[in-house]
Amino acid sequence: MTKKLGSKRKLRDFFQANLGKILDSKTLQVVADSSEWARRIRELRNEEGLNIITHNDDSSLKPGQYKLLDLKPRPAFARGISKETRAFVLDRNGFTCQMCGAVAGEPHPYDQAGRKTRLHIGHVIDKSMGGTDDASNLRAICSVCNEGAKNLTLPRPDWMKLAAQIRRAPGDVQLQALEWLITKFPKQTDAITAKRKN
Ligand SMILES: [Zn+2]
Repeated sequence: MTKKLGSKRKLRDFFQANLGKILDSKTLQVVADSSEWARRIRELRNEEGLNIITHNDDSSLKPGQYKLLDLKPRPAFARGISKETRAFVLDRNGFTCQMCGAVAGEPHPYDQAGRKTRLHIGHVIDKSMGGTDDASNLRAICSVCNEGAKNLTLPRPDWMKLAAQIRRAPGDVQLQALEWLITKFPKQTDAITAKRKN
C-alpha cells in the first residue's frame, strides 16, 4: 500500500516538474519504480484529474509517450465513465458531436488548423446541477465544443432554418447534402423514389 501511494506520488511530482514535456514510458517506469506505473498514470488522469495526454489525445505523440498538458484539472465528466458506456453513447449519437455536428475522424468544420474531430463524452445536465453518469445523461461532444468555444456551438437547427441555409448554398453544396442524406437514409430514399414514380 505504501509502495502504491509512493509510486503515484513520484509520478505526480515528476509530471508536474516536467510540465508540457513529452515523457516516454521507460522514463516513467523508472520514476514510478513499479510495474504498475501505467495503472498509476491512469489513476492520476481519471481519479485526480491530472491533464495527462497520450497519442490518443494528440496525434503528434507516439504510443508510449505522455505529456502533462497543463495544471487545469481534466473535466470531471471525462473520469469514471466505463468503456462500455462511452462506446454505447458514441454509437447512439452516430459518432457526431451533439453541439456542432462535427463527425469523429473528419476534419473539424470550425477548427482553423483543420484538425480531425475527436469526440468526448459530456453530460447533458452538468454533474454540479445533479446530473448523473447514466447513459441517458451523456452525449458525444467534440474537443472544440468541449474546450468551451461556446460561441461556435449553435443551437440545433429546425427545418425552417436548415432549409433557409440549404437554399442559400451553392448547387454543388446542395448536391453534397443530397448525397450525404441518401447515404444516411438508403431505405427512406428508395421509398421516396418509389412514391415519386407513382
Ligand atoms: Zn462540437
